[in-house]
Parts: sequence; C-alpha cells; structure tokens
Amino acid sequence: MSKKSNRFGHDPQENLVSLMPALLAGMSTLSLTVITTILLYPAADSVILIGYAIVGCVYLACYYWLYTISPNKTLHAWINAAIVGLGLGVLTYLIPQELHYLIYTLVFIAVLSISVISRRGPAYLLIMTITAFHVAHLIEAAMPLNELVIHGGLVVATIITAETIQQLKKLSQNQMNRLEVINRISENIVSTIETKQLLSLLNAAFQNALDADTYYIGIQKGDELHMELFYDDGEYFSDVRVKMEGTLSSWVIKNQKPLFLPDLRTTVKLEGVNFVLLGKPKGSLSWMGVPMKGSHVNGVMAIASYRPNAFNRSDHELLSNIAQRATLALDNTYRHALVEEQARLDSLTRVYNHGYFIQRLREQAEDCRAQAQPLSLIMLDIDYFKQYNDIHGHLVGDEMLINLCTTIRSHIKQTDAVGRWGGEEFAISLPNSDGEQALQVAERIRETLASIKVKTNKLADAPSPTVSMGIAVYPTETSDITKLIDLADSRLYIAKERGRNQIEPAPASHENIKSN
Ligand code: GH3
Ligand code: MG
Ligand code: MG
Repeated sequence: MSKKSNRFGHDPQENLVSLMPALLAGMSTLSLTVITTILLYPAADSVILIGYAIVGCVYLACYYWLYTISPNKTLHAWINAAIVGLGLGVLTYLIPQELHYLIYTLVFIAVLSISVISRRGPAYLLIMTITAFHVAHLIEAAMPLNELVIHGGLVVATIITAETIQQLKKLSQNQMNRLEVINRISENIVSTIETKQLLSLLNAAFQNALDADTYYIGIQKGDELHMELFYDDGEYFSDVRVKMEGTLSSWVIKNQKPLFLPDLRTTVKLEGVNFVLLGKPKGSLSWMGVPMKGSHVNGVMAIASYRPNAFNRSDHELLSNIAQRATLALDNTYRHALVEEQARLDSLTRVYNHGYFIQRLREQAEDCRAQAQPLSLIMLDIDYFKQYNDIHGHLVGDEMLINLCTTIRSHIKQTDAVGRWGGEEFAISLPNSDGEQALQVAERIRETLASIKVKTNKLADAPSPTVSMGIAVYPTETSDITKLIDLADSRLYIAKERGRNQIEPAPASHENIKSN
C-alpha cells in the first residue's frame, strides 16, 4: 500500500474529484424535487420545503469542505450516511407519495458518492435508513402491495450500485497495487549487483503481488534448468535442477513465448511436453510462465497453483512485467559476477590468482575449523623451468603451465582450490583432507605430469618437466595461515634441495616419497 492511499484505497483528493458531479447533481435534484412539489401540489407547505432545500443544498455545498478538513474520513463517512439517510427519510413526509421516486434519485446519488469515498458500510446504513422510512410511510399510508414491490426493486438497485462501485474500486486498487509493486521492484533492482540480493527482492515481489502456491526462476545452463529461486507450498528449495527436455519451462524457453495454462486437467497437450513434478509431491492445476531472455540469461519465470483457474490476465501482465525487469537485473548481476570472477583468476592458467587464493584459503580454513576437520596445503614448483623455457621457448612453457593446471584440477575435488602463487609456483588447498590424503593427491599429480606432452614449434613433443611439492596440515601443525604457507613452502624447498621431482610431506604422514 502506498503511503499516500487511505484505507479506502484512493487519495482523498482523488475522491473529491469524483465527488463533485454527485454533489452538484444532488443539489439540482433536491431543488427540482422541491420546486416540482410546490408547483404541482399547492397544498404543500412551501416555506418548510424551501427551508429544507436551502439546508440540504448548504449541507451538500459544505460537504466538499467538511470532507477535506475531516481528520477521520471513516467516521465522517458514517456520520454523513446517517445525516443523509435521516434527511431523505424526513423528505418522504414532506413531499407527496407520487414524487417519492425523486427521493430514490437522490438516494442513488447519495449511495454513489458515499460508495466512492468509503467502504460499503456507510452506504448500507443510508440504504437501510431510507428503506425504514419508506416502509414506515407506506404502512402508515396503507399503500398497495405493488407500490411496496416497486420500492423493493429500487432498494435492490441501490444495493447493486453500491456493490458495483466497491468492485470497481477493488479492481482499480489491485491495479494500483500492482503498478506500485512493479515500480518498487524497478527502483530496488536496478541498483542491485549481487544475484543473491536480487533474488531475495524478487521473492518479496512474488510474495506481495501474486497469490501463487509455487513460483520459480529457472535459468538454462547446458541441457539443465537451474532453479535460482524455487518456492513451493510454503517452502524454499535450493539447488533444484531439472532436465530441460519435455518440460513446460523448456517449451517457454524454446518458443520464447509466454504460456498460460488455466486448468492443467483440461489443457490441450503441448508437443513434446511431459509434466514434471517439482518441490512437494503435489500436482499444480494452473500454470503460467514467461520467458526471460537477456545477453547472459536465458530462462523462465513461472507461477503455479494447486487450484484450477487461479490466475487471470492481469496476473499474466504483472508476471511479464516483473520478468522483463528481472531479466535486465539478472543480466546485470551475472555480468558483475563474471567480471568479479575474471578479476579473481590468473589470466594465463585460469586458476585463482595469488590474492584470491589466500582469501579462499582463509575461508576454507575457517570452515574446517568450525567442522573440526583438517585442511592440507600443497605448494608446487616446476623443476628447472627456466632451463625448460630456454630450450623450448616461452610459448611452449606457457602451454606447459596451462597443462599443469588442467592436471592439478583433474586430481582435486570441486571444493578444493588451486592458485598461481607466482611464476611457475602453485598452491593447492584441500579442505577435509589430512596429510596422508594430501600426499596421495600430490603423488597422483606428479605421476600424471610425467605423461604430459606439449607440442613444440618444431613439431616434436616437448618432454614434461618434473615438479617438487611440500605439504603442511592445518590446524594439526599450525592454526596460523601465514605459518601454514611458510611451512609448506619450506618443505617444497627441502624437496628441491633433496634433488627435485619429489614430495616433502607433513611429518605425520608417510616417509618421503622419492622417485627416480
Ligand atoms: P627450480 O627447480 O629451482 O625451481 O628452477 P627454476 O628454473 O624453475 O627456477 P627459477 O625461479 O630460477 O625460474 C623460474 C622460471 O619460470 C623463470 C621463468 O622463465 C619461468 N616462468 C615464470 N613465469 C612464467 C610464465 O608465465 N611463462 C613461462 N613460459 N615461464 C615462466
Ligand atoms: Mg621452478
Ligand atoms: Mg619458482
């Protein structure tokens, strides 16, 4: 809800604009009723009638001002309904029965204007009051039944007027809320560069603006759809991935068209689409998805409900609007993440650069300490690499460095990290691995390197250089990261001193493994 809107949904100033014609119509109809009565019925008391018309018109003229200054608009609406109800009730005694229809014209105008500025309560108070007066009058004057029926019909018509206005107000209020949601999303997300923060803003938008049991943002990665945000029946699911083929989402992405299925029980079958159950084991009955296509993003934004026909055209418009803005914003955050990732990597080997490796190592050590797990650090340096460059040239040397990193990566887990310490020296951190496990990894890397061949510019395979490594274990040996690095480095130096092409392990593990 906007700060501007009151509890009736619209700004009081906006209400006044729609109130003006009703007030003018009220004044003219009242004057017309009185003039007609005086002209047609000489027996009527013209002084009282003229007095009534003047008081009524002054009240209506002042109403505009009274409404503006009233601090409590709700109370004002109730009091006004009571005054108008009583006033028009009294009029039933002042004008002849034949002109009572004119009173209904005034009731219509009053119900209309009250409904515009307030909820249905005050309008019903007015209808009830005036009906009570009419019924009393009709009974008193022993009017025939058909007159009563006609009056009853007019009462029903005023009720329908009040209800229609409430419905229209609700519709326009919904529309206002939606526009506001879109504006708020736009305002917030343009400045968001973190994907996580953006997703949390989008989640809030879904929660506030759409009445869906399920919603998700799925981004295509290869032949899978990765759910960046997935909510189902009160629960959030993370790391949800689905095969793209044959899903409603893949249909939307493939055709780059929105898809609105109001009732999944009766919907015509879409070519190549099978229904996949995600989240809770409960099938949705309505589904709506819109494509999200940007330069870094290709995906779908979808909502679903366990009820059939849960969404309408305006939900579809809102979803499309949110998706459009979310695509731009996601594109931004992805680009930002990509730039950040580039800044973390070494340009030649694509492993972490020195600075980021230390940061990662500290984070991993912190996690290991919390889980009471060890972390092993391997320092690796290529043997006689200067000589290697001198013989084969720098380009072959570069190729060798890239191959070395590919080899290291193939022997470590996704959760491990590798960084270029500088030149031809690399560091490998192995969380949840003790010295013995680290030694096995190091040995495998050393062995694999022996099989690497690099094409030289002379079209002959360059022999692979050997490597030396030193291992240190956190926190068994030291809980200080700087000391851990020094320790692994000094063991690497020992390995070099002993003749290279070997690994100096942490003391608790096996004896030095030396190769020929
Ligand atoms: P050691 O066994 O004692 O480590 O001998 P080394 O020759 O490897 O050691 P040194 O520190 O003397 O030489 C390191 C060499 O690594 C020097 C440089 O030519 C080479 N090097 C460092 N960075 C790069 C690079 O990015 N590309 C290439 N091709 N060579 C590099
Ligand atoms: Mg070296
Ligand atoms: Mg070196």
